[in-house]
Amino acid sequence: MTAPILQPTPENIAKAANILRAGGLVAMPTETVYGLAADATNAQAIVRLYEAKGRPRFNPLIAHVADMEMARKQGVFSKQAAALAQAFWPGPLTLVVDLEGTSTVSDIARAGLNSIALRCPAHGVARALLTVFGGPLVAPSANPSGKISPTRADHVANDMGERVDLILDGGPCESGVESTIIDARGHHPALLRPGSLSAAEIEAIWPGLVRPENNADAPVSPGQLLRHYAPKARLRLNVTAPDADEAVLGFGPVKATLNLSPSGNLAEAASNLFFMLRQLDQTHSRIAVSPIPEDGLGEAINDRLIRAASR
Ligand code: AMP
Ligand code: MG
Repeated sequence: MTAPILQPTPENIAKAANILRAGGLVAMPTETVYGLAADATNAQAIVRLYEAKGRPRFNPLIAHVADMEMARKQGVFSKQAAALAQAFWPGPLTLVVDLEGTSTVSDIARAGLNSIALRCPAHGVARALLTVFGGPLVAPSANPSGKISPTRADHVANDMGERVDLILDGGPCESGVESTIIDARGHHPALLRPGSLSAAEIEAIWPGLVRPENNADAPVSPGQLLRHYAPKARLRLNVTAPDADEAVLGFGPVKATLNLSPSGNLAEAASNLFFMLRQLDQTHSRIAVSPIPEDGLGEAINDRLIRAASR
């Protein structure tokens, strides 16, 4: 049976919170992509979530919180970590911090690490659900592991409809790429995943951002697999001369099958990225992508494209 898609009325939010309390799975909109929420403290619910996504168990989940008070119960915030939270929460920033003694988040959700990834989302529906539920929710993207992230409720219904209990429809997601993940445990902020918040925005609050090499023996962010966000189609990047049989995912003033942003606006491109990749993947077996500058949000867009193109 496929899950009902419901409007986020107060009654339906209450219904979703009850499903979560009973160990169920609820797809919810966030400002980045649709998340698949489960009670972060319920090991059984989390096992179900890993299974529904086909997600490797070594890949820990982000715990979403309603506010700083909920966050401090789970993680230890240095002065600098607190400054980042103060500046960007609620918003698309995930902070990896040391685990607090009072933490209630399941070991399985953290893949046994002694750190925890925390984020306070900005989307009204996610916030309402967190508040009514009253505790932390893990919420990875609501798609099968390794596939393109969902930015609309019908993407979730198509990909995961049979494996979730309820889908809350909040319309299209605004920012379209996942949160920026910062390891905030050291003397310098470390960029574990580029995302919706640019490196420059982080540096304005806490300078000295480092980009750690992902070392296979000791991965700092175990989930940063190279092959990810994968369409069925073959993707070629930085293409200025596409082949005749290729769909063109354009950027800027180029001839394209679909254009991420004809005016060359990176925020617009980020919000269109997963939607347009999904569209072209349905009609073409080869996709050529225009060059996208690496500055600002371009770093996150190029990160997703490199993973989507990797075989
Ligand atoms: P996703 O939910 O798919 O957006 O991925 C969450 C990301 O957060 C993955 O890349 C994880 O590896 C990363 N992550 C979650 N918890 C931790 C942690 N404690 N330390 C480092 N990275 C983490
Ligand atoms: Mg994901």
